[in-house]
Amino acid sequence: MKVLKFGGASLKDKAAYKETIRILKTEKEPKVLVLSAIYGITDWLETTIRAARHSEQSIENTTTRIRAWHAKLLTDLVSDPTMIADCMNELEERVQKLERLLYGLAYTEEMTPQLYALIMSFGERLSVILSATIFQAHGIPAQYLESDRIGIVTNDFFTSATAILPVIRKKLPSHVKPLLEKGITPLITGFFGANKDGKVTLFGRNSSDYSAAVIAHGLRADSLEIWKDVDGFMSADPKLVPESTLIEKLSYYEAAELSYFGAKILHPRTVEPLIHDSIPLIIRNIYRPDIPGTEICANEIVKKTIIKSVAYNKNISVLRIKGPGVGYKPGVISEIGTRLATCGINIYSIITSQTCINLLIDRKDSKVGYKALQVLKDGLIETIEHCDDEVVVAAVGAGLKQTPGLAAKIFNAIAAQQINIEMISLGASDVATYFIVKDPCLIPAVNALHTAFFANVKK
Ligand code: ASP
Ligand code: MG
Repeated sequence: MKVLKFGGASLKDKAAYKETIRILKTEKEPKVLVLSAIYGITDWLETTIRAARHSEQSIENTTTRIRAWHAKLLTDLVSDPTMIADCMNELEERVQKLERLLYGLAYTEEMTPQLYALIMSFGERLSVILSATIFQAHGIPAQYLESDRIGIVTNDFFTSATAILPVIRKKLPSHVKPLLEKGITPLITGFFGANKDGKVTLFGRNSSDYSAAVIAHGLRADSLEIWKDVDGFMSADPKLVPESTLIEKLSYYEAAELSYFGAKILHPRTVEPLIHDSIPLIIRNIYRPDIPGTEICANEIVKKTIIKSVAYNKNISVLRIKGPGVGYKPGVISEIGTRLATCGINIYSIITSQTCINLLIDRKDSKVGYKALQVLKDGLIETIEHCDDEVVVAAVGAGLKQTPGLAAKIFNAIAAQQINIEMISLGASDVATYFIVKDPCLIPAVNALHTAFFANVKK
């Protein structure tokens, strides 16, 4: 049995749905589908939540648009009036609940992570209801399941939850297997689960890839296919490097590093639930189902030129914590970590010396993180800076740590462009080396590295 995930772009409009339906019809194996919200809906919900805290004006506008958008897809793709009416009723029931929650928020002006998670889950709830009817109308027996009701149990972090895999493995199959036995394709909501008290928790923005992997783990699937509107992982971002090529195979760890470094193909946590049973993950393009895409599995292939991809992340900031003895102070890193964690800030990476601790964090967290650490200035810590004009560039490939001369090749390529490197991390990961440069150096740095490692590779 396979798990197939279709993201918002695969459910965007009539044309995308038609491709998705074509793929489902050619698939003979029993399958479980995990779906995102229809393209753009989660963004609308997020914007409305922000606005609703201060005024109720935008609520009606959003719910009207959400109704209209789902109704348009339904009538574009289904012709049977009874099916349309039944589906509209079910959608309407959810939209009314969503509306009530948004008005509740506007009246109380109080936003809790719990309420945020609940409201944000509606995009996926509407999407599976709509998609079940559309697929049925095209001859695919389908039934939707909402992930907070079928044992997708998580911890209590409402906006960045982690799945509790052993519990899911115990609970989920009893909800899914009876449908499969009857030849029905279950359509499960991505993006959210519920804590042990049944309260909705989100896995974070763009996390339905991770949901799909959690579900693949829970059902001991033979494989997970993630269908996108791109071919798969590339040797570099094609927008920056037009001659970049598709990568056919990656290991779990290579894919995780590439995702962390901003290749927006996959949610960075997707491989976690797959590693235990070596469930292979394949990324495919709905518009080009004939090409194989990128396969991600436990096998590590060492290429002759080692580097498989050059990635970058523009959304980072560096917090620099300086002082003559920061390296001596016991517990300083844990104190920094705790202070940032209480503000919900995730540290991507730490590079330290005796006199300076450099933290890589998300750029949106820069100011809050900077403020949160001010209390630590105690003599040993003298200054804290936040640098918001730097980017991280990474070279990823198995064998990188063991290959002599590789660092020289990377940094010679950068030096030849007269680019100054602000910081380097080498050897922390077995499969990735990364460094930091100023924003304007991004494009020349990525291109220089790509040329150094791929100049002779044919498309
Ligand atoms: N709909 C959610 C989001 O946009 C989850 C996802 O698409 O992966 O964040
Ligand atoms: Mg999305």
